[in-house]
Amino acid sequence: MVSSAHAISSGLAKDGGLFVPRDFPPVALAEIDAMKGKPYGDRAVQILSRYLTDFSEEELRECVSAAYSKEKFGGFAAPLHLLKKDTDILELWHGPTSAFKDMALQILPHFLTRAVRKTGEQKKSVILVATSGDTGKAAMAGFSDVPDTEVIVFYPHGGVSDAQRLQMTTQRGNNVHAVAVEGNFDDAQTGVKLLFGKAELAAELKEQGCAFSSANSINWGRLVPQIVYYFSAYADAVEKGRIQNGTEIVFSVPTGNFGDILAGYYAKLMGLPVKKFICASNSNNVLTDFINTGTYDRNREFHRTISPSMDILVSSNLERLLYEKTEHNSEKINEWMDALQEKGAYSIGRDIQDAVVSDFFGAWIDEIETQETISDVFNNYGYVLDPHSAVAYKALQKYRLMTSDETYGIVLSTASPFKFSDVVLRALYPDDYEGKVLTAFEAMDELSQKARIDIPQGLKELRGLPERESDIVAPGEMEKEVKKILAID
Ligand SMILES: *Cc1c(COP(=O)(O)O)cnc(C)c1O
Repeated sequence: MVSSAHAISSGLAKDGGLFVPRDFPPVALAEIDAMKGKPYGDRAVQILSRYLTDFSEEELRECVSAAYSKEKFGGFAAPLHLLKKDTDILELWHGPTSAFKDMALQILPHFLTRAVRKTGEQKKSVILVATSGDTGKAAMAGFSDVPDTEVIVFYPHGGVSDAQRLQMTTQRGNNVHAVAVEGNFDDAQTGVKLLFGKAELAAELKEQGCAFSSANSINWGRLVPQIVYYFSAYADAVEKGRIQNGTEIVFSVPTGNFGDILAGYYAKLMGLPVKKFICASNSNNVLTDFINTGTYDRNREFHRTISPSMDILVSSNLERLLYEKTEHNSEKINEWMDALQEKGAYSIGRDIQDAVVSDFFGAWIDEIETQETISDVFNNYGYVLDPHSAVAYKALQKYRLMTSDETYGIVLSTASPFKFSDVVLRALYPDDYEGKVLTAFEAMDELSQKARIDIPQGLKELRGLPERESDIVAPGEMEKEVKKILAID
């Protein structure tokens, strides 16, 4: 067992395993009721203090006020947008980078700098990040010019949207770096994991007073802030009269690395009344198959989709779910993870699968359905969804159709539609743009004018910012690149 400060500062356990909470502190319905009408920061302190027990309440308050300030989120950090009687939208993209990663990555630097002080482990944290698009920018923005940190982001070359790339390559801060990897997200993520495991490299870093840490959702410090908004959204649904406190609801979550949805499951283990989590995927439907068959099989074609932040075939947080579902059988999990590495597949057996299915429903949505959903929701409710959120919205509809369960549901909306303006614009007005090529900014302007919604400040500001050229490296060259950036040997 380790302290929360140690888990946050190191990111990954020494043996390459992931940190998990020893137990799940219960939150009573009365406490959820007490969240009604409270600022997001108060709700966050209430939940965070249950886990970060080596942080004082005052420290947590400082972290929370710095992270979820009005300047950064423009108001309440995670508002529930009321769509219709049985479905609301939890908007998680009001932060500086317009994607839900801000919910965790705005607060992680504050946790991390305090954690390092507490553990006295090293002078400088070198934060390695693999990104499918949104984590990279959010980490760079969160850590920009934070003393004693160096952030190195690896993103798939050609595998992110124009807006996502621009967000990274225009980010200011001498301590933040974006590097393009020839390959897809899984290649970048595997490369980062390998770097974490290199004892020799760790020793070299240590000599310089540095140590690796992670800003990916493998870091416990990134998961725990995500538990907060499930409670917060539930309290809002009670407050708005959608449900009575204590009623079980469903959450539909657009899923890639299984971090966001896992945080929801942790909230359920703490007592949040949830009937099901809809695990929504795009055509990279490895999780849908896993939930439906009990076999995880990454041996399949990788698809580049219009919801690129979910283009993932190896969901790193699934390990944490299995830890709970096997009643902490680490041996079994190691066996499965070895099989995943060696054969690309493993099967969990009927009993464990049943346990997974009792909490999760898997559904996947193809490209055409995603576009149709963006268009349908806009035409029916005047609300613009980004492609990821559209996948989750449609998956909830599929769940209702297949199970006849009409329970009230909350759809997690993980990105502003303006991060994917081109895709959204063409989904809404297919005939107007056939054959036309638009720059990222032209698409934003058109979307803003036609759908009558405002471009988020952070994206507007990208225009005219100087772009820094990224290095492009093969997966095998990532170590060399890290050393170059850190000026080691
Ligand atoms: C990261 C991301 C997801 C997937 O979240 P996970 O925690 O990896 O499952 C979904 N949508 C968007 C917009 C994202 O940036």
